Amino acid sequence: MISESIQQIKASLPAGVTLVAVSKTHPESAIMEAYEAGLRDFGENKVQEMAEKHAALPQDIRWHMIGHLQTNKVKYVVPFVHLIHSVDSARLLAAIDKEARKVGRVVDCLLQVHVAAEQTKFGFAPDELHSLARSGGLDSMPGVRVRGVMAMATNTDDQARVEADFESAARLFGDLRQTVFAASGAFSLLSMGMSDDYPIAVRHGANIVRVGSRIFGQRHYAG
Ligand SMILES: *Cc1c(COP(=O)(O)O)cnc(C)c1O
Repeated sequence: MISESIQQIKASLPAGVTLVAVSKTHPESAIMEAYEAGLRDFGENKVQEMAEKHAALPQDIRWHMIGHLQTNKVKYVVPFVHLIHSVDSARLLAAIDKEARKVGRVVDCLLQVHVAAEQTKFGFAPDELHSLARSGGLDSMPGVRVRGVMAMATNTDDQARVEADFESAARLFGDLRQTVFAASGAFSLLSMGMSDDYPIAVRHGANIVRVGSRIFGQRHYAG
């Protein structure tokens, strides 16, 4: 079941698009099934859950932090995380930089941009992102490497709205890549698309998709 879903999704993705399997709330056995099917990229949204799974599972798994990260928990993920998708403030970026330098790492990060209609989503507004990037503040952070942008579309059945959200995020990504980050070949990742909308995201240029329920089934939250 898990491996069939993975094969189907992989077959539908163009070359060069990374599939991150979002394994939050799912047991280690489910992750191992996906691992045996060839996946190495897994996404989690809670620090403790990711740290526990990292300790218990094969060390060649690339762990992606996709959920809101509190600055006081940064130290628990910095030693091993592969990519932090959910950098939503300059303060968080500074905290990651500080911890990364302590452990001698350079941590890859994406700037989460808020393009969806919902008020509750975390992330930078597009103009905030432009001013952060232009401020030069990123240049003095040797512990982080800004690799691109992460976005979520509005949670709606309205396909036109989803298209518009992904288009905004893709345009912002393109603008930053050609301006502030033009000198950095590292700014190349656009993470967008989940189970219900990843084909649309890919059409708009996503090169990382984060797919959970379509691989692992429904999530059951305890408590
Ligand atoms: C849970 C989650 C996903 C995966 O959602 P599905 O709809 O299960 O594919 C992707 N991205 C983020 C940020 C998430 O929190």
